[in-house]
Amino acid sequence: MYSSFDDPDYDYAASIAGRAMRSIAEQRIAPTPANFAVWFQYFAGGHDDLRNAIDLLIDHNRPFDARTNKDLFETYVANQVSAAVVDTSERLQALMGAAKEFLATAIADNHSQMQAISEVADQGRAGVDPKLLVAQLMNELARAATRATRLEAGFAEKTRELDVIRDSLSRSEQRARTDMLTGLANRRALDEFLRKAQATAEWGEPLCVLMLDIDHFKSFNDNFGHGVGDQVLRLMAKVLREKVREQDLPARYGGEELIAVLPDADLAACAEIAERIRRAIAEATITRRSTGEILPSISVSIGAAQYRVGEAITDLIERCDRALYLAKSSGRNRVVTEIEVERAGAAG
Ligand code: GH3
Ligand code: MG
Ligand code: MG
Repeated sequence: MYSSFDDPDYDYAASIAGRAMRSIAEQRIAPTPANFAVWFQYFAGGHDDLRNAIDLLIDHNRPFDARTNKDLFETYVANQVSAAVVDTSERLQALMGAAKEFLATAIADNHSQMQAISEVADQGRAGVDPKLLVAQLMNELARAATRATRLEAGFAEKTRELDVIRDSLSRSEQRARTDMLTGLANRRALDEFLRKAQATAEWGEPLCVLMLDIDHFKSFNDNFGHGVGDQVLRLMAKVLREKVREQDLPARYGGEELIAVLPDADLAACAEIAERIRRAIAEATITRRSTGEILPSISVSIGAAQYRVGEAITDLIERCDRALYLAKSSGRNRVVTEIEVERAGAAG
């Protein structure tokens, strides 16, 4: 990863900056500092999540519109600070573990000292006044015990402080993986989840994804305003979250596209869940929060696909996307799986 604190070779940095600027111009992306940072990181390499996300967008011919660019920046560049914070969190955990171990050792030491002293007292060896010996040793022990007690109290306090730090760090870690608008997992968390799910699926467990896109959302926004649109998007996220199972990951894929990763579900199970989501949304009553006015109902189209052992995750997403596209072109407000895409392909 290329951090702004590195002191890079001038020519190297200049060549990366050049490539970033050329790409920005080619894609007609506004040359703002945030966009530049995204593309600079992309070409500098070492940032796999960002690279995968951008490559996926390019593979799918997605436009780098303002929203996408903002998402990329917020998810992969701005959050690098949080990644550092996560690192710190792990270091603190390790430190706490080591300190606890140390304390346990100190206490065990004291116990064995105590035992040794009693043995000395028992033996009452010749030449040394056992009473004196014991008195000396007891004195030592008392000092050690005081030390340990003080250490323990101090340590308990440190532990509490560290717990507070750890909690706040884990909250910021959580924020770095969450989409602010919907509260769903963001692209970073999605990519990570998919990678892990893929590893498990290579052993033959089924793995499915469903992708959901709101129907005619543009005109909904145009009619009722972006704020109400956002409210709808949050409602979609809520339905998605409620309808998937505990082990699934609902996430925000892009602007108004949501996705759910369903490990251990075959295509039939996935289609069933998708259908439940579709129906719940179509039947939901949407009220404008500010006025209580009942708004026209909203529908979504959903594509579903199942992972094939050995393929890349991008292939899976692409089949899911094609299924979604067919759901749109065949009338919207429906669930289409990759099987129907294949059939449609075979038919014509
Ligand atoms: P289709 O049925 O073909 O999907 O029609 P559509 O109008 O929904 O078309 P498309 O999916 O291409 O449009 C995406 C629209 O979603 C454009 C944009 O205004 C809106 N959108 C994307 N992200 C957000 C968001 O975060 N909030 C709001 N309110 N609208 C968004
Ligand atoms: Mg869309
Ligand atoms: Mg749409």
